[in-house]
Amino acid sequence: QSRMLVGVRIAPIGRDLVLALVDDRTKARRVEEVRRDFVVNVSHELKTPVGGLALLAEAVEHAADDPVAVQRFAKRMKTESTRLTRLVTEIVDLSRLQTADLSDPLMPVNVATCAEEAVEHTLVVAGEHRITVSATAPAERVMVAGDPELIATAIRNLVTNAINYSGRGSHIAVVTRRRDDLVEVSVTDQGQGISPEDQERIFERFYRVDAARSRATGGTGLGLSIVKHICENLGGDVIVWSEVGQGATFTIRLPAIDLPRTEQSTDAAAL
Ligand code: ADP
Repeated sequence: QSRMLVGVRIAPIGRDLVLALVDDRTKARRVEEVRRDFVVNVSHELKTPVGGLALLAEAVEHAADDPVAVQRFAKRMKTESTRLTRLVTEIVDLSRLQTADLSDPLMPVNVATCAEEAVEHTLVVAGEHRITVSATAPAERVMVAGDPELIATAIRNLVTNAINYSGRGSHIAVVTRRRDDLVEVSVTDQGQGISPEDQERIFERFYRVDAARSRATGGTGLGLSIVKHICENLGGDVIVWSEVGQGATFTIRLPAIDLPRTEQSTDAAAL
């Protein structure tokens, strides 16, 4: 005798099989819910800058004989379109990471080099905010198996956040180290910090503690979600320590690899 269980015909072989099917079905439903939420969020997030652009275009039409006003609106249109481009790029990056083929070949990567590149990338913006950024790493190489561009992206996202959520004159320390079987990169700022409730949610897509502040800094609410996916795809994770008013430390932790001496000179060789 067989019966239908949520659309799947099964023979009553045992309780375990039935439970396994129910569990699979629950998981599939959850994945579907997450996907649907994502689509709803994406369209909501896209509507804001697109709506802004439409309003600004209308304002330009009405201000045609006031060149100063036209200039002002045009500048704001540029800001909105930059934001829109960034949003679309990050949405595409994130969905690529979420569906990443984990069998992609990985290469030996010196994380200290990625951290240096990431810091270099952010120095101009940091300077504009009168913020200093330091990068320290051990003398010996700190190797993981991964994709150097993605690892640098993850670190850069953390440093960019540290800049955006800190005050003028503060310092950001980026420290790369080996700890047992892990390579860690921690980014410590002296900024506003994050409450324990928010710490639970900041890695969610589009979650922002203060949407107005995030918008003002050009934030999309996707940065940390991207960091999390990059780390998890490489078998690692990202954790946060913070106290409100005391700054925050984000730490990326990736499984370390030890290369035989002879291979140490060929960073780019596929594993
Ligand atoms: P956003 O583009 O808004 O910065 P993220 O996903 O990078 O999006 O971060 C999510 C939220 O986490 C931010 O909006 C901000 O409220 C909070 N956050 C991230 N990094 C920091 C930090 N270093 N200090 C304080 N708050 C932070």
